[in-house]
Amino acid sequence: ETTPDQPRRRVLLAKPRGYCAGVDRAVETVELALEKYGPPVYVRKEIVHNRHVVETLRERGAIFVEETDEVPEGALVVFSAHGVSPAVHEEARDRGLRTIDATCPLVTKVHQEAKRFARDDYDILLIGHEGHEEVEGTAGEAPEHIQLVDKAEDVDKVVVRDPAKVIWLSQTTLSVDETMERVGQLRERFPELQDPPSDDICYATQNRQVAVKAMAPECDLVLVVGSRNSSNSKRLVEVALQAGARDAHLVDYAHEVDEAWLAGVTTVGVTSGASVPDILVMQLLEWLAERGWADVEEITTANEKIAFALPRELRKDLVR
Ligand code: SF4
Repeated sequence: ETTPDQPRRRVLLAKPRGYCAGVDRAVETVELALEKYGPPVYVRKEIVHNRHVVETLRERGAIFVEETDEVPEGALVVFSAHGVSPAVHEEARDRGLRTIDATCPLVTKVHQEAKRFARDDYDILLIGHEGHEEVEGTAGEAPEHIQLVDKAEDVDKVVVRDPAKVIWLSQTTLSVDETMERVGQLRERFPELQDPPSDDICYATQNRQVAVKAMAPECDLVLVVGSRNSSNSKRLVEVALQAGARDAHLVDYAHEVDEAWLAGVTTVGVTSGASVPDILVMQLLEWLAERGWADVEEITTANEKIAFALPRELRKDLVR
């Protein structure tokens, strides 16, 4: 019960949030492959970085493996949305695997840029998180030309052959502000550093950060639905805090919210990473409503209409 002098409890719900076109396509690819060819369908790495999605697909017959050598010869394997290096394609070919490549077209675009600038003999500085699958795939396109720049201290370690022939590229799911900071540091060392031909941080990552930034200053608490290994989801927590949210946390499920976080809170902001099905956000809204935060206002900063065609290898079998 609220008394008149108590501030109104409310939820601000960010839009856009959740599924991007690349994740939607990758998840649908595994679902359709299961339907069309029947289980088991092997998937190299998590198809997208979301626990719920992976568990649901596993229940339907998807088998997640770390590497292609775990897939029996001749079986079907789907490559995840994060992309793979040419070496992985080659291994799969050598072992006679049937492959469907669910790499997001916006990751493929970065691979193409890497190949092109390597062909032109540039030193490529790839800004991204060490050990992330996407970065491993992109770097694998031209290992001799690419150096990874993750933390600020990596900037000093960069060695280039010709300071007039240096370009930076990036992982698709980084914080826009932090990346520009890293570019500034690199440019101090290499004033002729070239920018990528178009944004590597994808539209979905950028839009979700803009949306969370818009609501964060009004929020006492921001809850981001997403998994710990999801780069873009983790960035949303950081962006919320930098933009003025008093507190922010990442949760896979509503039941992971610690009720202590709600103490003294009036406005809760809710958003979700690009790999998160909206059902998980709806469950969080229900959980909040049960505790007195039933008033939900959606804050829209962009309307997304992007969709990608399914992978070619799958499309040809779907045509009747
Ligand atoms: Fe593609 Fe961006 Fe989604 Fe990654 S986050 S799958 S790059 S649209």
